[in-house]
Amino acid sequence: MVVRTEALLRWLRILRSLAEGYPVESELRGWSWQFPPVRPRSYLGLSVQDAVSYCPTKRDVWLRRVAGVRVQPTQYMRTGSAVHDVVFSVASLVRRHFNANQDFERLSRAVGRVVELKSRECPSEECVKIVRSVGWLTYHTAASEWLWSGAGSLPIPATASLCEVRVDGSPVGLSGSLRVDSLPVPNVVVDIKTGRKVEAHEVSLTAYALALESALETPVDFGLLVYVWWSGGLQVDLRGVYIGPDLRRMFLDSRDEAIDIILSRREPPNAVECPQACPYVEVCGRENARS
Ligand code: SF4
Repeated sequence: MVVRTEALLRWLRILRSLAEGYPVESELRGWSWQFPPVRPRSYLGLSVQDAVSYCPTKRDVWLRRVAGVRVQPTQYMRTGSAVHDVVFSVASLVRRHFNANQDFERLSRAVGRVVELKSRECPSEECVKIVRSVGWLTYHTAASEWLWSGAGSLPIPATASLCEVRVDGSPVGLSGSLRVDSLPVPNVVVDIKTGRKVEAHEVSLTAYALALESALETPVDFGLLVYVWWSGGLQVDLRGVYIGPDLRRMFLDSRDEAIDIILSRREPPNAVECPQACPYVEVCGRENARS
């Protein structure tokens, strides 16, 4: 998602004051990957999903990484993937257009084709509505920011955002090819979500921040979670996150627990309450479980 510069700056003002009151020690930075607690016990190339499991007992990690269970993506996962696809396709189309200085009419037709193509990946009518709306919102935000930045009214236009940034997370025990949704400026990481808000989303942002710090040797203290959903129309909510000491320790504990499960091959029990969107509900015999 291309986040409007004004919204980004408003959140940064709030988050910066949190950072000043409770700064991050160097030992919790990604660049301290050679030393505990950032150095992992073992380098297993964990996905962010493995390291920050949504399952309360991390049984999903055991099912994926030890038992080798493969499941089909759920409707929720397919919707998330279609939304990510349309955002990145439209954002890169708009950026190419600006660099080539083509006309807007031609760009708008190209965006229309991309949006329709991506909406065909949807598993439901609701997903189609979200993908179409998010695609056009991305286009309008990027185009208007570009025009206003030309008038000198924006310090950094949202079109300057890097989208789908590949980063090597292996120094901190993660995969060597993580993909960060967006980096509007180098110390802010953005993640787009289509499901309900849960604490694990903030911990996932922290995983990306530590991976970026290990690669770039520069602090990444701030995150933005962009939630999109459909309720009579497209709904968008933006939440700023200070990636402070507490979130960093939560991520490192969660990552170490996942590593322990994989190395020990110990089978965790079923969770008492399972997230509705978990793709393993049938495997675990938890079809009626809800949280
Ligand atoms: S169904 Fe429940 S116990 Fe099984 S992996 Fe999912 S959340 Fe965990």
